[in-house]
Amino acid sequence: MEEMEKKELKNIIIEQLAKLEIDLVGLKDLTRPISPDNAIGRLTRMEAIGEKSVNEAAFKAAELRFHRLTDAAKRLEFEDDFGECLICEEPIPFSRLKIMPESTLCVPCAEDR
Ligand SMILES: [Zn+2]
Repeated sequence: MEEMEKKELKNIIIEQLAKLEIDLVGLKDLTRPISPDNAIGRLTRMEAIGEKSVNEAAFKAAELRFHRLTDAAKRLEFEDDFGECLICEEPIPFSRLKIMPESTLCVPCAEDR
């Protein structure tokens, strides 16, 4: 991978991590326990509980992506074969890495699994 591409990906990762951090703070706030006597405005308590579990799932997904991106940043820095597919060892297209820098597989290999 070219130095220029590495630099671009590094910036993308930093940007995405910053966005995720904001999301995580917001979602954390939405997953606080719901007190039984809480007046939740338009929402009924059942709806609030349903919404809370949706937000908890979103929080977990964001957290997982955060770890994967942090890991990708390290690999980008220290591993020469960053951007190579783990299965077929072909380069993962840069356009894919720009959207998902944490990808470790090319599209055909990812779809085969
Ligand atoms: Zn592959």
